[in-house]
Amino acid sequence: MTGRTHDLAAFTALGLVVLSHPLENVTLSTAIVAVVANMIGGIAPDIDQPTAPFWRNLPIGGIAGRTIAKLLGGHRFLSHSIIGIFLFGLGAHYLLDLLHPSFPKLNMQIIWWAFMIGFISHLIMDTITREGVPWLLPIPIKFGIPPLKVFRIETGGFMERFVIFTGLLLFNGYLYFANYSKFIDILKNHIK
Ligand SMILES: [Zn+2]
Repeated sequence: MTGRTHDLAAFTALGLVVLSHPLENVTLSTAIVAVVANMIGGIAPDIDQPTAPFWRNLPIGGIAGRTIAKLLGGHRFLSHSIIGIFLFGLGAHYLLDLLHPSFPKLNMQIIWWAFMIGFISHLIMDTITREGVPWLLPIPIKFGIPPLKVFRIETGGFMERFVIFTGLLLFNGYLYFANYSKFIDILKNHIK
C-alpha cells in the first residue's frame, strides 16, 4: 500500500481507539505529537523498503535505506511481523524514554500508543494486499485476507486508490459524525 493510504488508515485506527475509550486529559502538544507519531507508525514498517517515503526525503536515504532493508531481511519481512511489532515497540519506547527529559510535558505513554496503533494498522492494511504479511515469522508464510491471492488488492492500484482510500475517508466522516458530541467534548474539555 502507498504511504498515503497507510497514513489515513493509521489516523482512522487512532480515531477508533480514542473514541471507544474513556477520555483522558492531554496537553495540546501531546495531542499534536501523538498524531505525528501515529503517522510515522503508519509508515514505519516500510523502512524495510529502500524506496519508501521514509528514505526518499533524506540526503543519504538511498544508502541508509538499503542498509536497513538488508538488516530487516528485505521488504515485508521482520518489520511486518508480530516479532517486528515487539521490536519496534521496544525501540520506540527506548527512544521516547531518551527524549522525555528534554520534553517533560509530553505524555510519552500516549505518544507511544499512538505510534503502535499506526504500526499495527499498517500490518493489517498490508494483509489485504496481494503480497500478504509474514505475521508469524520465523514461520515463513505470508498471510492474506482473503486467502486467495487473486482477490486481494494491488498496491497503488485502482482498488487501493479509489475504493480503499475513499472508503477510509467516508468511514472517518461517519466516525466523527456518529460520535460528534464525544468528539467535541474531546476538543473542548480534554485537550488543554
Ligand atoms: Zn508495508
